Amino acid sequence: MEVVDSLPQRLNVLALTAHQSCQELVAQACRFRPRWAIATDGSSAQRADWSRLPDQTQLLVGIDGLRQVVTHPDVDVVVAAIVGSAGLTGAWHAVQSGKTLALANKETLVMAGPLVMAEAARCGATILPIDSEHSAVFQALQAGRREDLRRVVLTASGGPFREFTRQQLDQVTVDQALNHPTWLMGPKITVDSATMMNKALEIIEARWLFGLDPDQIQVVIHPQSVIHSLVEFRDGSVVAQLSPPDMKLPIQYALTYPERVECPSDKFDWTEAFTWDLSPPDEQRFPALTLGHEVARLGGTSGAVLNAANEAAVEAFLAGQIRFTDIVPACRAVLEHHHFDPSPSLDELWKLDAWARREITTWTGI
Ligand code: MG
Repeated sequence: MEVVDSLPQRLNVLALTAHQSCQELVAQACRFRPRWAIATDGSSAQRADWSRLPDQTQLLVGIDGLRQVVTHPDVDVVVAAIVGSAGLTGAWHAVQSGKTLALANKETLVMAGPLVMAEAARCGATILPIDSEHSAVFQALQAGRREDLRRVVLTASGGPFREFTRQQLDQVTVDQALNHPTWLMGPKITVDSATMMNKALEIIEARWLFGLDPDQIQVVIHPQSVIHSLVEFRDGSVVAQLSPPDMKLPIQYALTYPERVECPSDKFDWTEAFTWDLSPPDEQRFPALTLGHEVARLGGTSGAVLNAANEAAVEAFLAGQIRFTDIVPACRAVLEHHHFDPSPSLDELWKLDAWARREITTWTGI
């Protein structure tokens, strides 16, 4: 919203969507006066007070409203920023109608990377990453030819527990896990950042988005979250994208690409001294990374299963039902017990998504 506010000549909000947060949707609609407001959760929409919705804004309810709007000919860019597998439906319709998809929802590619990328190619859709690491890779890739790329290095803050021992990790509380050192985010992604499952999902996202061999993707720990990722070319030259941790920059870049314009994001003060650290991750303490590489290699149904299992496991952790260190082993157990299909349909992925959420209770004893 701040990015749109700073570029009024250039960006016009045609539609806003929410699931249950109807009051926030009304507040945002009052500010941006879109043609459509979409509330995807019918029962929340029924209970909500829409009296303050601007006259020119038409209210649409349910997933059908979402489909209508993201495929509308007047829409150029769809920003998919819903957390979790719920983001796939809107993103899929946007891709099918050949839109530019500004993608913050990594689950779209984690769940259905090969299907989404193939459909984008078939329908002439462009997918531009908003996830900060992938935006960095996308920007850095422009420094060289694609065939000269050796590898991509994704940076990870390491989360609040990067120095914790295995014993300390066992004792992690919900409050501790929700307290991220550099990024202020929703609870799901904050826990994912603490387990490093977020980075695992980003390995899978990068694999499909950039068409990489999983072995070309490496992770380094960089606690300051300033170097957003790096690409290494054949000759050993490494190109990185840096900026103070502020999502407004990757969001704006996806909205103005290939142009760069003034951005309301934080800037470096080069009269100050900086120290930035980079170190390899410890996959013994953070086994999610190993799992991420395995799933990136397997493809097929494994991404959808890992993602759903993790969503359910994080929910169970937040509800106090399982320990922090149970999350990743539970995901692995569910993954290893699913019927793997190397080239599933979207329908099959949705069925497995539901299956994995149920199955997680077997492996966590809840
Ligand atoms: Mg990210």
